[in-house]
Amino acid sequence: MSSRYLVRFDDLCPTMNWDVWNRVERAMLSRDVRPLLAVVPDNQDPHLTVQPARADFWEQVRMWQRRGWTIALHGYQHRYVNQNSGIIGRNAYSEFAGLSEREQEQKIEAGLRIFAREGVRADAWVAPAHSFDHTTLTVLARHGITNISDGYALRPYADGEGRVWTPQQIGRFIDMPGGVWTVCMHFNSWTDADIVSFETSLQRYQGRIIRFADAVREGETRKASWADSALATSLRTVRRVRSVIACA
Ligand SMILES: [Zn+2]
Repeated sequence: MSSRYLVRFDDLCPTMNWDVWNRVERAMLSRDVRPLLAVVPDNQDPHLTVQPARADFWEQVRMWQRRGWTIALHGYQHRYVNQNSGIIGRNAYSEFAGLSEREQEQKIEAGLRIFAREGVRADAWVAPAHSFDHTTLTVLARHGITNISDGYALRPYADGEGRVWTPQQIGRFIDMPGGVWTVCMHFNSWTDADIVSFETSLQRYQGRIIRFADAVREGETRKASWADSALATSLRTVRRVRSVIACA
């Protein structure tokens, strides 16, 4: 089977870059691409304060969800409190990993309360900085969230504890021989050229872009295999080498 792709955008909040977003949204609508959107319930991260807050933010989120776009809980306040990289190990800072169960529960409950107040359902979990731990997963499951968008694998899989993992491996569209690839993008800093390149990618990959719900359905009946572990090992190695080169 040829490769398939999932579009994921992170860091949606009232003060995001609406100028870029409006163009990105139009591009997805025109090609009927249904993305996974990671929404910050109560943003306190100054890096995500790009434009004045829009009062109708939550109305927008409800509209995206009604449209069949997937809404993920993206942490609580997007505020990093330690240097813990969690079980994914991608960034040495976290809002969750390493905190007590009680602290994590308070944050997740606070985030979900905001979602509930605004009439938004959390379809999945997207950790800020990809950083979370087993305690986070336990707390999320207790609150009915068992779809995780993260980790390294070739395709979505079930972990035997009732969770479905849809891997997140790349930051832009790349030709792959097979597998399900989540392309995770941060539009807040996009230039004109980035938007054009995104539009070109949508045109090129249109027929191979799936919805998060399709990925989850596929993952429900599949266990991780040796090929997933092999891919995970090589991606982790590439990232480690890159960080060494970046530091040199
Ligand atoms: Zn984020």
